[in-house]
Amino acid sequence: MTTKGRDGQEVSLSTERKLDPSWATKVYDTLGNFLHVPTVRDVRKGRGLTYEEKRQRCTEYADRLQAILGSPIHSIYLPVLFQMECECGFQITRRVEFKRPGDLITCGQCGSQHYFDSIVDGKVRLKPRRVNWTCGCGTQNILPVHRAKVGVEVRCTNCEFSGRVVQAFKILPISEGESS
Ligand SMILES: [Zn+2]
Ligand SMILES: [Zn+2]
Repeated sequence: MTTKGRDGQEVSLSTERKLDPSWATKVYDTLGNFLHVPTVRDVRKGRGLTYEEKRQRCTEYADRLQAILGSPIHSIYLPVLFQMECECGFQITRRVEFKRPGDLITCGQCGSQHYFDSIVDGKVRLKPRRVNWTCGCGTQNILPVHRAKVGVEVRCTNCEFSGRVVQAFKILPISEGESS
């Protein structure tokens, strides 16, 4: 069994040896048989295993069991995780297998939000969730959604303008299917 190390190289976790239930059942039956005293007829007809053969089987089973029980790993589950560092410095860790494009990932520390996009060459791509606002000078500025709250001060990246987020009403046409 292998996994990927930090540098992307495959790292061996040694061999996983599982107890095969069908093998265990077979061994159980065989060993159970050994406990029965052979009938006179069996011995006369030379049926069944000799003591030497039985001893050999037992050694074989014991060796295999020892290998299974001595296996350093068993029933191992490795979730596929990705980590990203948020602007606030917090390490966000999520399981990749349950993520779909567009799923929202929120930083547990500062609340910043990102959309899960895709995984390309083992690297997770995220899109920050932002709102755009256009300054009077024509510059498009961005504001992370988690900061877009009433009263928050914003500055234009191009001019001296600074403003404050306020709540406002806007009328939009009712699109089809949305009316109630
Ligand atoms: Zn954060
Ligand atoms: Zn401006």
